[in-house]
Amino acid sequence: MLMEAIPAKEYKSEVTPVWCPGCGDYGVLNSYLKALSELKIDYNKAVTVSGIGCSSRFPFFVKTYGIHSLHGRALPLAVGVKLARPDLNVVVTCGDGDGFSIGGGHVPHVVRKNIDITWICMDNSIYGLTKGQVSPTSSVGLPGSTTPYGCPDEPINPMAYTLTYGATFVAKAFSGNPKELTQIFIKALQHKGFSFIDVISPCPSFNKKDTFKAYKDVLEPIPEDHDVTDKVKALDIAINSGGKLITGIYYKEDKPDYWSMLEGIKEKSKASDKPDYEAIIDTFKV
Ligand code: SF4
Ligand code: MG
Repeated sequence: MLMEAIPAKEYKSEVTPVWCPGCGDYGVLNSYLKALSELKIDYNKAVTVSGIGCSSRFPFFVKTYGIHSLHGRALPLAVGVKLARPDLNVVVTCGDGDGFSIGGGHVPHVVRKNIDITWICMDNSIYGLTKGQVSPTSSVGLPGSTTPYGCPDEPINPMAYTLTYGATFVAKAFSGNPKELTQIFIKALQHKGFSFIDVISPCPSFNKKDTFKAYKDVLEPIPEDHDVTDKVKALDIAINSGGKLITGIYYKEDKPDYWSMLEGIKEKSKASDKPDYEAIIDTFKV
């Protein structure tokens, strides 16, 4: 943490975003910069990791360290960064296709370990970069460039997915609601453990159905009296939203993160006749 406040614009890199006019990802970027600023995060101690896709250009536009990695591989890469350098703030930014299709196999295993990283999914229910194929969160019937008769598949539910796999912080937000989005980013970054935010971030170029206007008509904040420790209720809201876009923190659980668990193993190994933990780790060091 820095002692002095840094204005949000100081967290911007010198690279100008190249997203289409009206893309939801601009709002996500602005709120992310504000959250870093409000938390006074030292950009020399922060890493933004992405996969491939429009939203995965994100690290270029932020003055933290950044890695634009492989399609679907941002989560495991971020885990490696965090385990090697637990002192860093590690944030993954990606899209719905990158996160839940190409990288979908990584999701349960990263989530269930409760590694202290934040995953921001910019969810536009389409593949934008490759020009409009339907994605894992596309609704049935959505036309895509390779599905002219409409998407035949039921969409996955990112909230139910991550809640079920054991994420200890799960929130939904909307790019068109920057104040709430910034506050959710702040809470997610402060959370000790795995935090997930499904940010609805419309793609006006290729998804003509799920527009800012369409979402604004169904936007509803999570009830003020929602108990964020109640996982069953969180799942109920995630599954039975009744077509509403319900934003806010659905679930939050305080439990030891992966690093604390490793520290426990380290201690245990000292009092054991099994091979010493540090000695095993040393064999992987160059
Ligand atoms: Fe944004 Fe869609 Fe353009 Fe990609 S194609 S930059 S997601 S509006
Ligand atoms: Mg997408």
